[in-house]
Amino acid sequence: MYAEVLVEYSAKAIDKTFTYLIPHSLENKIKRGMKVLVPFGNKIINGFVTGIKEVWNESHQLKEINSLVDEYLCLNEELMSLGNLLEEKTLCTKITAYQTMLPSSLKVKKQETHYAKYISYIELVEGIDIDEFKRTKPQAKTQIEIIEKLKEGKQLKNSFSKSAVDSLLQRKIIKIIGEQVYRLHTPKKVKEDPPLTSEQQSACDKVKLNEHRTYLLYGVTGSGKTEVYIRLIKKVVQEGKTAILLVPEISLTTQIVNRFYDRFGLDVAIFHSALSEGEKYDEYLKILRKEVHIVIGTRSAIFTPLENLGIIIMDEEHSENYKQDSNPRYHAIDMAEYRAKYHQIPLLLGSATPSLESMARAKKGVYELIEMPSRIGDSKLPKIEIVDMAEEMKKRNTIFSTQLKEKINERLVKKEQVILLLNRRGYSSVISCKSCGYTFECPNCDITLTYHKAANNLRCHYCGYVIKMQEECPSCKEKALGSHGLGTEKLELELNKIFKEARVIRMDADTTTKKGAHEKIINAFKNHEYDILLGTQMIAKGLDFPFVTLVGIINADATLNIPDFKSGERTFALLAQVAGRAGRSSLEGEVVIQTFNPDNYTLNCVKENNYDKFYQYEMNNRHKLDYPPYYFITSIKIASKEYELASKEIVKVKQYIEKNVSKSTIILGPTTASFFKLNNIYRFQILLKYKKEPNLMKTLKELDSFYIMNKIVNIEIDNNPMQI
Ligand code: ADP
Ligand code: ZN
Repeated sequence: MYAEVLVEYSAKAIDKTFTYLIPHSLENKIKRGMKVLVPFGNKIINGFVTGIKEVWNESHQLKEINSLVDEYLCLNEELMSLGNLLEEKTLCTKITAYQTMLPSSLKVKKQETHYAKYISYIELVEGIDIDEFKRTKPQAKTQIEIIEKLKEGKQLKNSFSKSAVDSLLQRKIIKIIGEQVYRLHTPKKVKEDPPLTSEQQSACDKVKLNEHRTYLLYGVTGSGKTEVYIRLIKKVVQEGKTAILLVPEISLTTQIVNRFYDRFGLDVAIFHSALSEGEKYDEYLKILRKEVHIVIGTRSAIFTPLENLGIIIMDEEHSENYKQDSNPRYHAIDMAEYRAKYHQIPLLLGSATPSLESMARAKKGVYELIEMPSRIGDSKLPKIEIVDMAEEMKKRNTIFSTQLKEKINERLVKKEQVILLLNRRGYSSVISCKSCGYTFECPNCDITLTYHKAANNLRCHYCGYVIKMQEECPSCKEKALGSHGLGTEKLELELNKIFKEARVIRMDADTTTKKGAHEKIINAFKNHEYDILLGTQMIAKGLDFPFVTLVGIINADATLNIPDFKSGERTFALLAQVAGRAGRSSLEGEVVIQTFNPDNYTLNCVKENNYDKFYQYEMNNRHKLDYPPYYFITSIKIASKEYELASKEIVKVKQYIEKNVSKSTIILGPTTASFFKLNNIYRFQILLKYKKEPNLMKTLKELDSFYIMNKIVNIEIDNNPMQI
């Protein structure tokens, strides 16, 4: 028997398959979709089996497949074909597509690593004469104790003295048995279903299982969308089918996973990048062994090999995390859409602030719109107030407005909780010299360094460059360094100063580097061990804390002022989401938005809790400026350490595209990309806007292959970028 093997022989190689002989020992094991190691040149490299055949007609000798990477691991036919879509949408190589669909612990590796975790037990060897041992060795008390215990059945090896166990093993009186265990502890189901509200019931009824359709569940924050997900999944599981629920970020998985454990117990596997390699392996194995019906996870969980899918749900569908921002730049919605169609099942997209694209599709009838306009029970949407920080500055209130300070104090007295959003970590974002104006910038990137006070250093948030904080200005040698720009670290210190009694906890990338940190913070806040939770956008979405009655947005301008076509949409979603954390129980919620642009239209839509008004306004803008959803866009970047070269290549790229696409396509640029210099690499960009461009993918593919072997100049092509 022979196997066609797609091999990986350089990071960005052209896909190529080679034929290998299947050795006898593997003949019945190797199937299409499996990962193997094969000899190539004088190396052993990775490969995927793409086909099996019985005959080989050519004369030259074939090499044998070296080994099978994991007998459980096999991309099924559905995933193999999904690989084609991934390749088509992102222009990646097929081997990259296959690799992307597997968790990293299972990616083909040169060295075999064994991830399965075993626990060792000991038990008595059958037919052993124990009495004889006792007679001849009456002094071996510990060993006799062990034997007595083992009469009751197998025991954990570790619970006995090592030397005693070893000598019993030597005498062949006992033997070791290994049992595989899963690392993650899954609690048992403990809760029954609550009765649904009529809105929830009618939402559930609208989703037709067993046929393909995409639904947009547009439900305000706190309308009970998660309960709708649970019920739909329950129905699917009762039919013996499986379900995938995607959530946008790890910080959100904790709460949602716990709700699912409560209702489904052992039937749930979870999947996200904060799991250890071993945990990922275990969770994957549960799926392959068909021990679970439900998978909950972040973006890449869309590739988990559940068979017999019954529904796919994407929570917070507007989230930009669903798009991967490195190669292959895929969007989980496209993948979900494909799988839902393949299985002829519903895809449900849920959000309180749907992306403009999804809402536009729903309004056109491409998606079916399901609305849940009211909150559960008697909880109401929060009252939102905009505070003009220019006025506050006159009163020397630089961080907290009078209103926000008062309201925080009220909450502390009433023993209610507060969430504060500040979308920038570190202490302060700019350190500059008051005497000469010198500003600390990263030498590798064109961004300023952020001061971290606890560590007393300056860091680049992009490339990780670090220097110690200095006493004097490196340029004019004056001791006149000052900081501006507020970060979460400074906000925390300020809170501690102003609200001395308050218990404050911070959640941002710096406080969540340790495994399990997200969970710890969220649980501690939920248990009311803290009064104030402050953090970056990490705290904005999905979290449900009944005692939070005040949300403060410290600087609403941070996201608003980024020059990008999506910054209005991003700001609206972020602020509406974080505002939605307030007043989720019978306690009424309030929100304070601090800004220097109090008349800004987007902020005022947030204030009115009015998504529809924002949608109309922003669609109008997009229409005027030919942006999505009216036009598709593709960004093409040329990246190189050589500035001159990159600036010349981008012109060539533009000329090539002009020649190959229709006149109706708008080509903008070349310009410098928005992060022009990162990690010592310069980036130039052109932007394409088009409605229909049949030649485009072919042209882009040609461009991509043209640069594949080029070690000095790289091309980055992004279809439907989240940022330009
Ligand atoms: P969303 O995901 O739409 O923001 P959630 O699903 O988190 O809303 O629901 C908000 C709150 O209402 C949660 O605390 C949840 O437990 C509660 N809840 C949801 N549905 C019901 C129901 N049918 N009966 C009682 N409480 C519910
Ligand atoms: Zn840098």
